Amino acid sequence: MRTGTNHLFIPGPTNVPETVRRAMNVAQEDQRGPEFGGFVMGLIRDLKPVLGTTQRVMLIPGSGSAAWESAMVNTLQPGDRVLMARHGQFSTLWAKMATDLGLEVDAVDVAWGAGVPAREFARRLGADRQGKIKAVFVTQNETSTGVTSSVAAVRQALDEAMHDALLFVDGVSSIGSIPFEMDAWGVDLAVTGSQKGLMCPAGLGILGVSDKARASKGMRRGFFAFEDFELQAAQGYFPHTPPTPVLHGLRAALDRLQAETLPAVYARHERLAQGVRAAVTAWGLETVCESPALASNTVTAIRTPVDAREVIRIGFQRYNVSFGSGLGPLAGKAFRIGHLGDLNEGMCLTALALAEICLREAGVTVALGSGVAAAQAVYEHQAPMALAAE
Ligand SMILES: *Cc1c(COP(=O)(O)O)cnc(C)c1O
Repeated sequence: MRTGTNHLFIPGPTNVPETVRRAMNVAQEDQRGPEFGGFVMGLIRDLKPVLGTTQRVMLIPGSGSAAWESAMVNTLQPGDRVLMARHGQFSTLWAKMATDLGLEVDAVDVAWGAGVPAREFARRLGADRQGKIKAVFVTQNETSTGVTSSVAAVRQALDEAMHDALLFVDGVSSIGSIPFEMDAWGVDLAVTGSQKGLMCPAGLGILGVSDKARASKGMRRGFFAFEDFELQAAQGYFPHTPPTPVLHGLRAALDRLQAETLPAVYARHERLAQGVRAAVTAWGLETVCESPALASNTVTAIRTPVDAREVIRIGFQRYNVSFGSGLGPLAGKAFRIGHLGDLNEGMCLTALALAEICLREAGVTVALGSGVAAAQAVYEHQAPMALAAE
């Protein structure tokens, strides 16, 4: 018997706020009806600032991985050379999908815990005098390692090499939580999903598509054909049946982001993450992320001297708390605290207090309250006075 609140501290799907959950409790409606198109166009309009773009935004039924696939099949052809880094689970899976789709992947393997190797990218782009590389891929926030890479640095590498490859960015665990500037960074395909920073259940892939990307010739495709989704921008209608409850949830989630304002959303994620990192330092443990400059404000992966699966198991079975597991080669070596989406100081302090108990029960020597106190010291006096008006 589980009592009280289930504490969800995985880096997605994230906590769905009560207002979003209630907004999804809708009767089924006519997705070809006269009001539906305007409703969807409102979502697209309000997603644009979240992606930092005035270009096309498309909503595609599916998860973030569906958005990955749709981005690739619509703009690249089998045999096209693409430049990618493998530095965690998601970047590795993205490279695998590219290979599976028949692209020729020029992969740069770096340590899990390092960022995107912008300098090595610059070198390879500079050496590619014939323009064989058709696209460069960046996982802005590697959710498996808690590493955030600079998209701007990769744009700079492209510009300095005067290379016109498309720039793809996976923003699944970053868009809506940390700054994302599709147009300013010259991103051609920005990919996200509904269930992380956007605080909804999974069900929607969300894509920012530049004019240049739209003009690029893709490969054979069916469900994901951009041309079928073109009516969305003009009239708000989907080519297939959309997950309407998720769309209503997204409306409520976008209203929340607008009310808080994006700068405040980003500042809150930064503040909460600093508290979590202070706790890890106080515990005497290390993050998977190699350098403080790359530390993610949405997820922290923490190395443990014991089997990290024990920490997670104890949390789930005894304390009704979910932490993220170590993925791929990090299985058993690290656990993750997701700190993105609908979250505040009290929730992070709960995560840290429970993590301390779980670490100790798994055999790690940490002083009770040490991480909590370190985070409290980061949090006190910092939260904005934003609650009065609600
Ligand atoms: C979660 C995640 C994905 C995959 O998203 P799904 O919605 O599970 O398909 C891709 N990339 C990153 C960085 C993620 O965090």
